[in-house]
Amino acid sequence: MGRRVLSLSSSSSIRFCFFAFLQYASFLVLVVNGKKNLIPSSSMPVNRDLYHSSGDLMEQIKALVHRHPDKLTMERIKSRNKGYQAEISVVTYCWGRKENDDRSKFRILLSFGQHGRELITSELAFRILSILSEEQFLPNMDPASLNSTLDKLIIKVVPMENLNGRKLVEAGDLCERRNGRGVDLNRNWSVDWGKKEKDYNPYEENPGTAPFSEPETQIMRKLALSFDPHVWINVHSGMEALFMPYDHKNTTPDGFSAHQMKFLLEEVNRHHCQERCMIGSGGGSVGYLAHGTATDFMYDIARVPMAFTFEIYGDEAASSQDCFKMFNPTDLTTFNRVLNDWSAAFFAIFKLGPQQLSEDHPKVSAPKSDKWVSIDENLDGYLMERSSRNGKKMEVLDFGMQEIRTYFRLFVLSSVLLLFMFCSRISKSKSSRPVLSAIPL
Ligand SMILES: [Zn+2]
Repeated sequence: MGRRVLSLSSSSSIRFCFFAFLQYASFLVLVVNGKKNLIPSSSMPVNRDLYHSSGDLMEQIKALVHRHPDKLTMERIKSRNKGYQAEISVVTYCWGRKENDDRSKFRILLSFGQHGRELITSELAFRILSILSEEQFLPNMDPASLNSTLDKLIIKVVPMENLNGRKLVEAGDLCERRNGRGVDLNRNWSVDWGKKEKDYNPYEENPGTAPFSEPETQIMRKLALSFDPHVWINVHSGMEALFMPYDHKNTTPDGFSAHQMKFLLEEVNRHHCQERCMIGSGGGSVGYLAHGTATDFMYDIARVPMAFTFEIYGDEAASSQDCFKMFNPTDLTTFNRVLNDWSAAFFAIFKLGPQQLSEDHPKVSAPKSDKWVSIDENLDGYLMERSSRNGKKMEVLDFGMQEIRTYFRLFVLSSVLLLFMFCSRISKSKSSRPVLSAIPL
C-alpha cells in the first residue's frame, strides 16, 4: 500500500500539477472575465414543440408583416462596436400605415427577450402581433371596441432584443441572460450605471465597460428617443410582477404620473393576473436594487410617462440549476395560459393607457437639448448624461477599470508561470524513480 502510494505520488505529482494548472488557469480565466459564480447549464433542453427557434420566430414574424402591409411594417437596425455586431428587428403597428409618424397618435414601445433565457417573452411578442394583425383573436374582446382602441395607437414591438444572447441559449447555455459578449443589457443604461450592491453578481449583472457600451442598448436608446413613446414596457420572465420605476432605489416616483402608473398596474393585476402579480417599484419589490436599467432610463431621461417592467412567468419550485424551467413554461397548458392571460393584459393597457394619459395631462416633454445626448460610437459608445429628471448633474466616471484589469492579468500570468516552474522541478526530481501505470487500481 505504501509503495502504491509512493509510486503513484511520483507520476501523480506531475498529473496533479498538470490538472491543477488547468483548473487554476481556467478558474483564473473565469475570474478575469468576471465569471465569479459558475452557473451550471440547465439539463432540460428547449421544448421545441412549444417554442420557436429564434430564426423560425423571426421568419414567422416577417411573413406575418408581409401578409398585413396595411397594418404592419418591419425594420432591421444594425449596430457594431469593437468587432461585436448586433441586429434588432422592430415591428410597427399602425392602422393605415401612412400615419406611421403621426405625432397625434398614442405611442407604445414594447421590448421582449432582453435576456436570452426568457424565451416565453418573445413568444408573447409573436402572439400580440398575431392579434394586432387579426390572425388570432382575444376571447371576450369586442372587435368594434378593439378597432376603435387600435385606431388611435402606434405600437412598436421589439420581439427579440437580445438575439445574440438568445442564440447562446439555443446552443445549450440555457442559463445565459446576457448578450453575445457577456453584458447584461438591463444594466447597460445610464441611470445610476455601474453601481454595485453588496449582493451584486458580477456574472449575471455585468454592466459593460460604460453606459451604452453595447450595440443592442445603443439601438434601443435611439429607437426610444426618436419614437418618444407614452408607454414603455420591458417584458421579462422569472416571476410574476408588474413593476414601475425605480429599479435603482427602493421608492416609486412622486406625482401624477406615478399615480396613473400604479392605477394601471392595479387594474391589470385585478383582471389579468388574478391578483397574483407583485406591484410596486422594481427596486422595492424584487428584493434587490438594479442599477443602469432600461426602465429607469425611459422614465428619468427619455421621460416616458408610463414606464414598466413586466415579469410574466416564473416557476419558483424549479431547481435553481434548471434555468429553462425557472423562466419558461414547459407544458402546453401553462404555455397557452401565459400567452392568453398576458396578451389580454397588453390589450387592456392599449385601451387604458390613452384613457389614463388624457389630454388634460399631456406627455411631459423635455427640452430637446436635455433629451438628445450625443453619442460617439467610435469611443466605445461612451456617454456622459447631461441631466436627469431632477436636473441633477450626473457624470459617469471610469474608475480605471481597464488598468486594474491589465494588472490583474499580469498577476495571473506570473502566478501560472510560477506554478509551471514548481511542477517542472517536481517532475525532474522524480524522474529517477520508476514510472508506473497512470491507471488507478
Ligand atoms: Zn430578465
